[in-house]
Amino acid sequence: MIDFNLTPEQKEMQKKAREFALKEIIPVSRKYDESGDFPHEVYQKAFDKGLFNITIPKEYGGIGCGILDSCLLVEETAAADPGMTTSLFCNSLGQEPIILGGNEEQKERFLRPFTEKLQYASFATSEPSMGSDVAGIQTTARLEGDEIVINGRKMWITNGGVATMVSVFCRLEGTKRHEGVTAVVVPTDTPGFSVGKPIPKMGHRASNTVMLRLDDVHIPKENILGEPGKAFPLAMQTFAHTRPTIGAFACGMARGAMEYAIAYAKRRKAFKTEIANFQAIQFMLADMKINYEAAKLLTWKAAWEADNGRDNTISASCAKAFATDYGMKTASDALQIFGGYGYTTNYLIEKLFRDAKLYQIYEGTSQIQRMVIGRYMLSKYIPIFDKTY
Ligand SMILES: Cc1cc2nc3c(=O)[nH]c(=O)nc-3n(C[C@H](O)[C@H](O)[C@H](O)COP(=O)(O)OP(=O)(O)OC[C@H]3O[C@@H](n4cnc5c(N)ncnc54)[C@H](O)[C@@H]3O)c2cc1C
Repeated sequence: MIDFNLTPEQKEMQKKAREFALKEIIPVSRKYDESGDFPHEVYQKAFDKGLFNITIPKEYGGIGCGILDSCLLVEETAAADPGMTTSLFCNSLGQEPIILGGNEEQKERFLRPFTEKLQYASFATSEPSMGSDVAGIQTTARLEGDEIVINGRKMWITNGGVATMVSVFCRLEGTKRHEGVTAVVVPTDTPGFSVGKPIPKMGHRASNTVMLRLDDVHIPKENILGEPGKAFPLAMQTFAHTRPTIGAFACGMARGAMEYAIAYAKRRKAFKTEIANFQAIQFMLADMKINYEAAKLLTWKAAWEADNGRDNTISASCAKAFATDYGMKTASDALQIFGGYGYTTNYLIEKLFRDAKLYQIYEGTSQIQRMVIGRYMLSKYIPIFDKTY
């Protein structure tokens, strides 16, 4: 049976997020894009309204939302501001390895404080010399008595400059590739942990992005998630759970761009008529709608699979690749409909265009999603026609 009805709770979450986006995000979106400041006060309001940390399970004081619930929330906020949404959702990304791979004591110790007051969490796999190739992590970890000692650099870490806790993926000294990958929860006030300057970016400027330095950072062994050296699957499972949400980011951004384009096309005249009357414009709008609907279906399916305990690796990659690639196309076409004005900073469409690009890059680039899907097609995919006819 297939059912696209949302529950009353999901409808309420969607409504709350939509109202928040209209009232608290859109009015300050341009201001934060220009200043590059971190919009802590916006997040405090989001926290107070229960729009932060929504995936923390109820047992640890959270509201226990699923991945589909997250998708509904972030679609609304990303329609208003993709950059602010990146930082708004980052806590769930930083907490996901704990939710998936932590023991009861770790979940209680690390998750509950996030439900009590606003603070930030980050997730760190990427490094200056690697991003796509997660098995190529260079940051090392050494087991020493009751501690694990970490050395290395983490690059591009969202909210790393404001976080109190980072889920760091490193490797046991002397190991290679997938075998030695280890996940450790690192409190950011640990001696040896330091943060670089915010990295200047083309878009998502309200989101904090920094390099993290870990120099002989001593962490108690109780902060290791699962067995040392066995955390590569945990990184992949985390991505499978968060990639549908990136698909939903892209759906939201694309919906925002499409709606701006509709409003502009109805108003702008050329050749003595509104440009909305030209079939070329109508076809662009129609393609935006088709791609938005298709992206949303893929995203919801991937989220549903995760929420129902299924391995959603492939559906998450399909959703992320499709939604972000067509999100980029939608932002570009929407800007085209604005003509020259689209290329100015008078309208938010140019900001959505800049913001859209990142979706094709972080959480696994569009090429990496295709690599995941391509490998599956040639290994586990079971064809109906298993020979040529
Ligand atoms: C603003 C921002 C925020 C980020 N936030 C975080 C964060 O919070 N935590 C975190 O850990 N990381 C974060 N990242 C890092 C992000 O996940 C990486 O940038 C991304 O995974 C790509 O890695 P890379 O930049 O090293 O590119 P590379 O891996 O060097 O890739 C370069 C190009 O080569 C292509 N490529 C690489 N390998 C293959 C292949 N096998 N086949 C085909 N093409 C390939 C890629 O698709 C890409 O086009 C963030 C990045 C940015 C820009």
